Amino acid sequence: MEDKNPYRENFPLLKENPVIYLDSAATAQKPSCVLQAERDFYEHSYANPMRGFYALSMEATKRLEEARDEVRRFINAPSSDEIIFTRNTTESLNLVAYSYGLSRLKAGDEILVSIMEHHSNLLPWQMAAEKTGAVLRFLECEADGRITQERLEAAFTDRTRLVAVAHVSNVLGCENPIRQIAAMARERGAVVVVDAAQSAPHMPIDVQESGVDFLAFSGHKLMGPMGIGVLYGRRELLEEMPPFLTGGEMIDSVTRTGAVFAPVPHKFEAGTVNAAGAWGLMEAIRYLKRVGFDEVHRRELALTTMALEGLKQIPHVHVLGSERPEEHCGILTFTIDGVHPHDVSAILDADGIAVRAGHHCAQPLFEYLKVNSAARASIYFYNTREEIEAFLKSTAGIRRKMGYGE
Ligand code: PMP
Repeated sequence: MEDKNPYRENFPLLKENPVIYLDSAATAQKPSCVLQAERDFYEHSYANPMRGFYALSMEATKRLEEARDEVRRFINAPSSDEIIFTRNTTESLNLVAYSYGLSRLKAGDEILVSIMEHHSNLLPWQMAAEKTGAVLRFLECEADGRITQERLEAAFTDRTRLVAVAHVSNVLGCENPIRQIAAMARERGAVVVVDAAQSAPHMPIDVQESGVDFLAFSGHKLMGPMGIGVLYGRRELLEEMPPFLTGGEMIDSVTRTGAVFAPVPHKFEAGTVNAAGAWGLMEAIRYLKRVGFDEVHRRELALTTMALEGLKQIPHVHVLGSERPEEHCGILTFTIDGVHPHDVSAILDADGIAVRAGHHCAQPLFEYLKVNSAARASIYFYNTREEIEAFLKSTAGIRRKMGYGE
């Protein structure tokens, strides 16, 4: 029998709105504790942090730094100075490309990116390659998303200087071997930039154990507010890097002709920081810890297994990636013969089911897999078996609604 999902209660939108929300890989719903935390910041500690010498501003600064330390613990970074607040994953990755990439890469150096990167971890490297004369090379995968040792060995050369890879693919849901990649990069003197947008909400991350140099994620995908993101960077690298954006709040002193920049992390936080967002993100992390990754995983895997097995039973439906539900991280991207994914999404929407459709900001992967576009259902621990049943029932009826026979 279905055990009632005890977490539903925590999500105001899911209580009020009958939507069957299967788009958590795009953005996760917010528990009320996160909404309250952000409001609480505005109601009780609101002033511009970092620069005021009065009590309220110092309180705002204290909260910002408390949030930074919670993020540090979340990914086991050695120091909170290595945690930079940004707007989102995209901004974090651009920061690395503009600051580290443009200052360190040279003509002939190789940037290795996986074929499954979200455009956020591809376009910044295309830009860096174009501006520095570095060469962009692709790390390819098997059809199920696996990056094999052979592929890795073929892709690395003695010119590899930077590797950009997603921890979990937003299309296939597979987890990439970042530890192994970081070890291979280290041997060759290259740095590794990890896009953890899709892994941070689902699994513990340990930047020390995995040995990565930079790691980016977005608050909104792990139930935090929109507009707050994180970049972790190894201190030695951050200290040598030039600022990305310049202006207020990131300097020690300024003259008519120049400036002395503040130490990390503030050197990379130009302008007013989204401190209320950071406070909300801290609460989201605490909420996630209270639920626990084991519980998140257990619930997700049960629902993903049910959904994947169900989709396999529906004629003309093809799921991208692995046959195994445990290799999907709650992400099921699928096509239906003869039906455009936009129609799939529209028909599901008519039944109150929210999924995403398109190329999922990963066009090179779609080209590589020879698939035009696809629909994506993404599951989080707050979903229920009833929702998956409704999704499968609606999906099974799509071809008929489009005028096909059996
Ligand atoms: N990388 C991956 C793997 C993603 O799934 C996403 C979000 N779709 C991003 C980067 C970009 O995240 P954001 O829009 O929050 O910057």
